[in-house]
Amino acid sequence: MQDDVIERLIEQFRTLPGVGYKTAQRYAFSIIEGKSQRAENFASAIIEAKKKIGFCSVCGNFTDKEICPICSHRDRTIICVVKEPKDIIAMEKVKTYNGVYHVLFGTISPLEHRGPNDIKIKELLARVQADKVKEVIMATNPDVEGDATAMYIAKLLKPLGVRVTRIAQGISMGSDLEYADEMTLAKALEGRRDID
Ligand SMILES: [Zn+2]
Repeated sequence: MQDDVIERLIEQFRTLPGVGYKTAQRYAFSIIEGKSQRAENFASAIIEAKKKIGFCSVCGNFTDKEICPICSHRDRTIICVVKEPKDIIAMEKVKTYNGVYHVLFGTISPLEHRGPNDIKIKELLARVQADKVKEVIMATNPDVEGDATAMYIAKLLKPLGVRVTRIAQGISMGSDLEYADEMTLAKALEGRRDID
């Protein structure tokens, strides 16, 4: 039997993705055995991040500012469209990309009763018109929903006279952007094709 306090800490670590009981136990002991300053830094970093980090008002990226550093400093005429904020972190592994992003916060999914109005498509159309966008790169995950969403958006964008491309299928079908390495993503971006 372990102490309730330890057990509570282990349970907290277990709520993290990919952390099983044994790993959670190792993390908990590491905190308990370490210096108290370390535990305080750890706890305050969690609380501060949760309190201060929100979404960029332009692209939907995680940021502690009103507008994220990517939107403030990069070429706004190229937009890479992704499903979730964490996909931006994945795409940023490709150092040659100098455009901005747009987070949809989901994909169109009839199975989960999520239609076009439930994700940030209207916001994308508004940006394309306001920023005189030249190209929209659809980088939703290469699965059924990601492909269908890319097609749907391409149809809406075409009449606006903007080039719409889809990242190449270097990433294996059904897998998530976040697990792809830098080389794969660079190739997928480089080999993007026009959606017609
Ligand atoms: Zn932004």
